[in-house]
Amino acid sequence: MIRVVRNPAEAEVKFECTMCGECCLGTSMELLTDDMERIVGLGYGLDQFAARGSDGVWRLRNVDGHCVFYDPDSKRCRIYESRPIGCRLYPLNYDDEEGAVVDKACPAWRTVPPSEKKRLGRLLQLFVEETQRTDDEVRLLRLMGKL
Ligand code: SF4
Ligand code: SF4
Repeated sequence: MIRVVRNPAEAEVKFECTMCGECCLGTSMELLTDDMERIVGLGYGLDQFAARGSDGVWRLRNVDGHCVFYDPDSKRCRIYESRPIGCRLYPLNYDDEEGAVVDKACPAWRTVPPSEKKRLGRLLQLFVEETQRTDDEVRLLRLMGKL
């Protein structure tokens, strides 16, 4: 298994996030096995918070129109310090032709500096590639009792 990033904080986009919570609504973030292990380590069962899509990609569950970890009352993430790499990389997305692109659905998208697209471009690509092949790793980690 490739570790996409040693320290999850390295994947955080440096910009002026307003913590509005919009990106936690109507979403099912793709997961890496590192993300799953980190969240299972908090005491959650894998099937409580994640599901395998018909495309073989594992994603966070969406419940009542928001991420399973989103608290609609406080508009906060319940696992913020342990949130997945994909959540840290947002509002950057990966485009096969352009590389890192900023998602304009984020109200603060204009505050993402071009240098962050450059810094995180390769990591985004790795993230996308790795989320496509987590399924075998999940099976193995489950056999090993780690998930
Ligand atoms: S939508 Fe953008 S500004 Fe709002 S919480 Fe998400 S990343 Fe931050
Ligand atoms: S894990 Fe947290 S930051 Fe990521 S989508 Fe869910 S609530 Fe939002």
